[in-house]
Amino acid sequence: MEFSLTGFSTGANHTVPEEVKVLILGAGPSGLAAALYAARAELSPLVLTGLSLGGQASTTHLIENYPGFPEGVGGAELGELFQKQAERFGARFEFDSAIGVDFSSRPFRVKSFSREFLAETVILATGASPNHLNIPGEKELTGKGVSYCATCDGWFFKGKRVAVVGGGDSALEEALFLTRYADSVTIIHRRDALRAGAILQSRALSNPKIQFIWNTVVAEIKGEKAVESLVLKNVQTGEETNYPTDGIFIFIGNKPNTEIYRGQLEMDERGYVIANQLMETSVPGVFAAGEVSDAIFRQVITSAGMGAAAAIQAGRFLEHMEG
Ligand code: NAP
Repeated sequence: MEFSLTGFSTGANHTVPEEVKVLILGAGPSGLAAALYAARAELSPLVLTGLSLGGQASTTHLIENYPGFPEGVGGAELGELFQKQAERFGARFEFDSAIGVDFSSRPFRVKSFSREFLAETVILATGASPNHLNIPGEKELTGKGVSYCATCDGWFFKGKRVAVVGGGDSALEEALFLTRYADSVTIIHRRDALRAGAILQSRALSNPKIQFIWNTVVAEIKGEKAVESLVLKNVQTGEETNYPTDGIFIFIGNKPNTEIYRGQLEMDERGYVIANQLMETSVPGVFAAGEVSDAIFRQVITSAGMGAAAAIQAGRFLEHMEG
């Protein structure tokens, strides 16, 4: 079988492919925990980090539900600690992304931007990315008032008005974070009930800087050089209104980063890699951990746990093959 992404010729780089026992794709909590466990099992793991070291968690200002940090820990800081710990036991990290995979035979071939690898086992830990609203103005004004990361962009909205879209944990957590900077934060939610957990709900509902607009979707984002207003549509009455704002933060869930695996292993209709409780995918020797295969828990701790389990299973798989 060919590489699943053909944008880059497999023969473009003439260096000899590097042979690796455990190749880990992605450096969020699952990839980093897999690296730690594989390194401690002396499997010399190599991690292709992708673009975001620490994964989605690294864009979270404060993680309050990762055990061992009673006062909470910064998302980026936690990622750095995970990495340091894995490196201490010999894990290697490369700031590079996998762009094509061939899982049709072992060793598996993986192509990155800079070179190729022959991997005896692969752990897929490429996580997920934020969903977009796909409405007029969103793409054009991204980085000009449209954002998917409050930790990254909140500071730019000091003393301004911002809107947050979504009713889940992310929307509320990020809205609360934005109250540090913005004068007012308006959460726009398509229903009249929040999906977020109880603690976040009560914190957001009692925060004087946060208002809610219920049963409403954003139909369009308007602005010349930067966001100026939103066209809001009430889903019950169909009424449309113009809502002035300086920024809009969108937190409406995620989609798994599994495009490059398409056609190589089993996935569900939403693109999540199908893996069993041993983190095994439909291809023996390829394991999946974290949000590439988990649409249910999506927590730092559960992803890290899956990463550890995937590395343990990769070790067992190698032992079995060698035995
Ligand atoms: P989520 O739980 O899937 O919530 C997405 C929200 O966006 C929902 O309220 C949904 O509305 C809304 N939505 C979806 N598509 C929309 C659209 N096209 N237009 C308008 N609204 C739309 O996603 P999340 O908040 O990113 O959380 C993801 C996972 O991470 C969850 O499992 C969550 O528990 C976890 N998480 C946990 C924490 C924490 O524990 N502190 C923090 C962040 C995330 P409906 O409610 O109507 O479906």
